[in-house]
Amino acid sequence: MPQADLVKEGARQMTICNACRYCEGYCAVFPAMELRRTFGKADLVYLANLCFDCRDCYYACQYAPPHEFAINIPKLMAELRRETYREFTWPGAFAPLFNRNARAVAAITASALALIAVFVLVFTGPAALFATHLGEGAFYRVVPYAAMTVPPLLVSIYGLAVLVAGALRFWRETAGAPGGSVGPAAFLCAARDALGLVYLRGGGAGCNYPGAGFSASRRWLHHLVFYGFLLDFASTSVAAFYDHFLGWQAPYPFWSWPVVLGTAGGVGLMIGTAGLLYLKWKSDPEPSDRPMVDMDVAFLVLLFLTSVTGMALLAFRETPAMGTLLAIHLGAVAGFFLTLPYGKFAHAVYRYAALIRYAAEEREARREAN
Ligand code: SF4
Ligand code: SF4
Repeated sequence: MPQADLVKEGARQMTICNACRYCEGYCAVFPAMELRRTFGKADLVYLANLCFDCRDCYYACQYAPPHEFAINIPKLMAELRRETYREFTWPGAFAPLFNRNARAVAAITASALALIAVFVLVFTGPAALFATHLGEGAFYRVVPYAAMTVPPLLVSIYGLAVLVAGALRFWRETAGAPGGSVGPAAFLCAARDALGLVYLRGGGAGCNYPGAGFSASRRWLHHLVFYGFLLDFASTSVAAFYDHFLGWQAPYPFWSWPVVLGTAGGVGLMIGTAGLLYLKWKSDPEPSDRPMVDMDVAFLVLLFLTSVTGMALLAFRETPAMGTLLAIHLGAVAGFFLTLPYGKFAHAVYRYAALIRYAAEEREARREAN
């Protein structure tokens, strides 16, 4: 739907919800909506990024299709979020990546994998690729140290810059919101809500996911993915510290911090992503936006592949399969980081920014009421 039509439709549905207010206990979207009388693009962008797609409001709504009002808030919010990602990304030439995200992610990851395979075959040679390498520095005998560290660092800095640029644009766009000043308390409050996935509780009984019944499974699986990702990040950071400051090169022993953290994170990611993919597969398509579902699936599949190949590398690192598994794992990791700012991961920054604004608004509303 063109952006102008989407905004018009968003204003129509929100105006009906604002008169009804039945769903005000489900999440932050409805209390934030109630602070407004009209709904322009900035309001809708903000509200959409507060929505966690729990779908409680869809199954509770007496005006959902086939009613002539055709209220479908989760679908509307997903479309608006996708529009946010497209509009605020940088450079604008990459915005279409959000439209056919699954294809883009598959093509970029396959290219990265092919590039790494060619690089290893040309610069290291098949003999080293298929040999058994043991002891410190074994990985670097397949992929040299500089190739394993410099490109990932540059890609990570680029991805971070794109995400920060998007968050700043989002912040400017929603600056007319009725919130008060944004202080440290708003950041802390938003961090508490984000880390606890408070709004995936819906009204308390969980999401209506994958169908009309209440379930906490989506929230717990999301926790596994989120904290699994953080544990893997911690593992990589500790390994980088060992390597750069202590001169201890990978692979590390099974009971070392990088391996313990990485294993716990990898298991969490595998279970979490597989579970969320299952829920996506079973979920009701009516309250969803198809391109957004594709984006979710592409992100989850890539995270799953990254964790599975990482765990396989750990299991077979002392065999002749190590070189091939290392190349495949690096290809998956490269695909993940190259597409990170142009896929589902973007929701983390926009949602956190929206939660900060909500915390400030809520505080201001409470102050005015007292
Ligand atoms: S989603 Fe439906 S039930 Fe909920 S507030 Fe809107 S109109 Fe009312
Ligand atoms: S889908 Fe859930 S989070 Fe989104 S607006 Fe409805 S109740 Fe709120």
